[in-house]
Amino acid sequence: MSDRDGKIWMDGQMVEWRDAKVHVLTHTLHYGCGAFEGVRAYDTAQGTAIFRLEDHTKRLFNSAKILRMQIPFTQEQVNQAQVDVVKANQLQSCYLRPLTWIGDRKLGVSPKGNSIHLMVAAWAWGAYLGEEGMQRGIRVKVSSFTRHHVNITMSQAKAVSNYTNSILANTEALDDGYDEAILLDAAGFVSEGSGENIFVIKDGVVYTPDLSAGALNGITRNTVFHICKDLGLEVVQKRITRDELYIADEVFFTGTAAEVTPIREVDRLPIGEGRRGPLTEKIQNAFFDIVNGRNPKYTHWLTRV
Ligand code: PMP
Repeated sequence: MSDRDGKIWMDGQMVEWRDAKVHVLTHTLHYGCGAFEGVRAYDTAQGTAIFRLEDHTKRLFNSAKILRMQIPFTQEQVNQAQVDVVKANQLQSCYLRPLTWIGDRKLGVSPKGNSIHLMVAAWAWGAYLGEEGMQRGIRVKVSSFTRHHVNITMSQAKAVSNYTNSILANTEALDDGYDEAILLDAAGFVSEGSGENIFVIKDGVVYTPDLSAGALNGITRNTVFHICKDLGLEVVQKRITRDELYIADEVFFTGTAAEVTPIREVDRLPIGEGRRGPLTEKIQNAFFDIVNGRNPKYTHWLTRV
């Protein structure tokens, strides 16, 4: 990844991809206090556009606030940095990764007096859970690892440290022959995937865990709320049990990387007919219409590059 050509925006400068480096005594590298975003730009009929850019930047600043990190740039500067990175790398569609971290001035646990940094990188990235999975649905397993309790590493921050838990769950799932993991919260209720929110459809009603289950307040999750409203589907945020997944008609993941990914199997049990469900397909199509600029109602969510 580090040996590519291209440009990365780093602390206000556009630098060569290969030169965008940090020191080994970087505080975040040791203790994991940092925050990031995952953003996508799509090649729309009106040109390349970043989807819900302002919302992602706002969440990045909220994550930093939760972690008591003062980003030394304005939200407008960070929005512009993302537009500039897509342009500088001449990308038509891509994934963007803004990251804020604590510097290398000192290495005690206390970050007080240390510097705060920010970078934005972008690269082409197709379907996160595979093109086939988008059509057929993926196979997932309920993880043996518990999702962070809401008072541990702060689940509303997209914090770097939260992803150790995600890595453990995802690695276990892949090693066991599944495509992804579903994590339960500390009370045993469904929380989210390692990098996705989860939705369940039963008898025509769409359910998703409320945020007290430790799930991230996903921007794709919110986009799906709008889509469901447009499709006349009721959305209920509630506690969901593991066995409710098993007897659901349809289950799907959402996320910037995962977009809308159907789930065809949980813990070796087929969900519904064991393939992408009809409402999931409708929601998926509506999602791709919006991000690709084919739904005029939502063009305000697209920032032209
Ligand atoms: N939960 C976790 C743990 C994630 O990493 C992500 C991806 N950012 C999501 C949910 C989905 O959030 P979004 O739709 O904003 O990408």
